[in-house]
Amino acid sequence: MKKMKIAVIGAGIGGLTTAGLLYQTGHDVKVYEKRNNLDQVGSGLGIGSNVLKALKPYKMAYAIEQEGQPLRKMELRSNLNEFLNTLKMDQNDEENITIHRNVLHEILKTHVPYERIHLDHKLKETKQNADSVRLYFENGVEEQFDLVIAADGLNSTLRKQIYPKSTPKYAGYTCFRGVVKESLPIDKHTALEYWGHKGRFGIVPLKDDEIYWFCTMTAKENDLQYKSFEKPHLQAYFNQFPEEVRKILDAQEETGILHHDIYDINPLKSFVSGRVVLLGDAAHATTPNMGQGAGQAIEDAVTLTNLMNEKPIDAALNRYDKLRVKHTKKVILKSRKIGKSGQVSSTLKIKLRNKALKTKSSKSLSKKVKFLQKAKLK
Ligand SMILES: Cc1cc2nc3c(=O)[nH]c(=O)nc-3n(C[C@H](O)[C@H](O)[C@H](O)COP(=O)(O)OP(=O)(O)OC[C@H]3O[C@@H](n4cnc5c(N)ncnc54)[C@H](O)[C@@H]3O)c2cc1C
Repeated sequence: MKKMKIAVIGAGIGGLTTAGLLYQTGHDVKVYEKRNNLDQVGSGLGIGSNVLKALKPYKMAYAIEQEGQPLRKMELRSNLNEFLNTLKMDQNDEENITIHRNVLHEILKTHVPYERIHLDHKLKETKQNADSVRLYFENGVEEQFDLVIAADGLNSTLRKQIYPKSTPKYAGYTCFRGVVKESLPIDKHTALEYWGHKGRFGIVPLKDDEIYWFCTMTAKENDLQYKSFEKPHLQAYFNQFPEEVRKILDAQEETGILHHDIYDINPLKSFVSGRVVLLGDAAHATTPNMGQGAGQAIEDAVTLTNLMNEKPIDAALNRYDKLRVKHTKKVILKSRKIGKSGQVSSTLKIKLRNKALKTKSSKSLSKKVKFLQKAKLK
């Protein structure tokens, strides 16, 4: 393996994982982050067993597993508390876990030496020739690298340069999230989702008796009505949902509720342009319906590192492109489909959807996400 000088743009989950793995395997890595700190705004995250299995050969896997809460199934109910189906999580050799986003980020940070993370460096543009890329930052800094990893998220500057027409696509719904300390309405390895005409409400166990909750409601992009939503508005909105939902919202503090409109991007044809590689949300932002966005970013990082350890750089990038474009396209499209079905609001369509969910076996539901376990990592 030839040691390379590598820049990673973005210190999110994708960027830090990639930087940590490439540094661990002997590369000269620098991370550039536009913000002036690494603090995270976030609540809970699901990390699939597919992701932990991929990460297993590397040091950071252990700590992530230790901090995670094993999750074994997800129960789907209607807003009237009628049982619809159960999704049994594929375990293989690893657990599916839930984890605080901040905790995950803290773990990833410890795998990249502090002096290699450059804050307040917003990438402005790049120029590349056959085997190097020159980076220009808004603060006037310029530097040349053998390889640049664009892990700069949904609104990636580098993706815009390579694919000017690839813009975030609004999914049609908005999402609120929070974390509370409250007794679980079900056992600590089971998540619950309630689907009703007013939206979806999810209750997900975290470690140490905490609960991560989220809800989605159909809305216009940047809908002003929801921008001013606070705890009492959510309580009123979901007051016809089961008691479990109302109890969670009652336990939520007035502050600390996160709100985001939901986006993905249309699948790209390639993640590689010369010596620039797109990774994570920059490459394949997906809606959160499968809980796989961060997980797929981690899988990208593992695949790229595995390949760079074994192959000359051009062959490694070609193979990364071939494996990751195809796999993440399936995640984007499947996740979009789940979101569409979950946000249905006409009474007739809800009736048909719920009937279909009730008659499907739990096994057939799990089969639909089986492909997640089959990602090739080199
Ligand atoms: C409501 C919701 C729930 C979710 N739930 C889950 C879940 O359960 N499981 C899961 O796996 N995923 C989940 N996700 C998805 C997950 O959060 C993302 O897929 C993941 O954070 C992407 O990581 P990333 O590193 O690619 O991008 P980001 O986390 O967006 O990081 C990008 C970084 O790049 C920096 N940056 C941007 N532009 C520049 C620039 N020009 N120069 C320098 N730095 C720059 C940003 O400041 C940021 O720090 C969820 C997402 C949402 C919205």
